[in-house]
Amino acid sequence: MIDTHAHIYLPDYSNDVLAMIGRAIDLGIRHILMPAINPDSIAQMETITYLNSGKNDINLHPMIGLHPCEVKEQISIWGEQLWPSKLESWLLEFAGLNQYVGIGETGLDYYWSMESKEEQMLSLDIHFEIAKSTNKPIVLHNRESTQDLLDAIARHQNGSVKGVWHCFNGTYEEGMKAVDLGFHLGIGGVITFKNAGVAEAIQQLPINKLILETDSPYLSPTPLRGKRNEPAHLDHVQKKLGELFGLSQQEIEAQTDRTAAKLFSL
Ligand SMILES: [Zn+2]
Repeated sequence: MIDTHAHIYLPDYSNDVLAMIGRAIDLGIRHILMPAINPDSIAQMETITYLNSGKNDINLHPMIGLHPCEVKEQISIWGEQLWPSKLESWLLEFAGLNQYVGIGETGLDYYWSMESKEEQMLSLDIHFEIAKSTNKPIVLHNRESTQDLLDAIARHQNGSVKGVWHCFNGTYEEGMKAVDLGFHLGIGGVITFKNAGVAEAIQQLPINKLILETDSPYLSPTPLRGKRNEPAHLDHVQKKLGELFGLSQQEIEAQTDRTAAKLFSL
């Protein structure tokens, strides 16, 4: 099983990080992908990777990116004029390294960070350029910015761009637009929520474009909703996806693992 999106390096886990990883191993998770949110994430991801080093039963993979909700704060550190070039050189420092399996997370968030719309778009453009130059998948966040995000993907798609729309919770039509633009959809705890309507949309999407994620520590699946999320909760998401497609737990695991492993070259 592969958790393609988990911020397990955050201080939320500082009291039980090894136990949390142990529970993931016990569930059968073999890879956890960690999207960075800002420059502080690097040291945090290195620490957790170091703590877990020497164990071969699970692989922790860092990714490099500036979360859209962190763009404004980072501009205040890097400076109004210099920030785009500082962002580019920071991304380039890590993006080419073998252990960094993706570019993200980046994207747009018009719910929490409406005031930095233009800067988020410039940041997203810079991430796309790095993803293209390194041929690595890009990890996209979306909140109330669907059309702008789809437009950005279309603008950058030159036939080689690949990536994932993480924590997909849109309509069937929106999902198909992303798929037609060459993207995968990250499926998380939201499909277990009643009345979200997301499960019905996902059920119609091509199974070979779907990958699993927890988005830990956020978005715990039902019946753990409201609690801190962690990779060991991924089985609730996997089980629900299997039910929607009429596949056994083994079949859905094999299918989503294959897709994720190929997308991120694991
Ligand atoms: Zn995330």
